Amino acid sequence: MLTIQAVPAFDDNYIWFIQAPDSKNLLIVDPGDAKPVIQAIEQQQLKPIALLITHHHSDHTAGIAELIRRYDIPVYGPKSEAIPYLSHPLSTCENIDLNSAFPAMTILDVPGHTKGHIAYLIDGNLFCGDTLFAAGCGRLLGGTATQLHASLQLIAHLPDQTSIFCTHEYTQANLRFAEAVEPNNAKIKQRIIDTDNLRREGKPSLPSLLITELQTNPFLRCQQPDVIQAAEHFSGHSLNSSEAVFTSLRLWKDDF
Ligand SMILES: [Zn+2]
Repeated sequence: MLTIQAVPAFDDNYIWFIQAPDSKNLLIVDPGDAKPVIQAIEQQQLKPIALLITHHHSDHTAGIAELIRRYDIPVYGPKSEAIPYLSHPLSTCENIDLNSAFPAMTILDVPGHTKGHIAYLIDGNLFCGDTLFAAGCGRLLGGTATQLHASLQLIAHLPDQTSIFCTHEYTQANLRFAEAVEPNNAKIKQRIIDTDNLRREGKPSLPSLLITELQTNPFLRCQQPDVIQAAEHFSGHSLNSSEAVFTSLRLWKDDF
């Protein structure tokens, strides 16, 4: 079993630490800030093996330079984005072996938030950066709605029990939007209660399970009649594809 922990950074980012079974070997996902990473490594005497980068935004990459200087480790990241110190450019592929301590990884191209965004699937855990959020999804900051919709559909078809590790603690705000879209969805109401309880105790609301996202995340529910109706009400006309519903929801959420 991998041990996965959240290292908080900035106001609402999480830098994920993936630790190999029975070892101190460590993968670090999206180190936007080196300081909390180094602090956690030293406290726990961990051994960094590689950096895994999902996309080029600075809150995911600004810690790379200092971590490379200190630990001299490879940097995996999307091949079509400008990532500092990138040593292993990646796009969709299966069974990448990083290190004998870790299970093989699968890389998924998930453009939309940015145009070269990738996600890492490792032992049933998906590190998806700013593509799918708990109860929401990333903004369009380089890619298109068509791309992001297709990327979310790709994720939606992974096994139901996949754990979703996104990069931001946006869940409470996302759930308020989800409730506005589907005021009669009891699973959204329950998730609001569960999430509020976790946050009140100072715990991350992440990871979530894909099954929970399929039941409560409006951006994965573009074929549900209530979601279609709400999106049509927002846009003021009928929407005849799930991509059109998604595009309308994304616009609505931008100003919510
Ligand atoms: Zn981003």
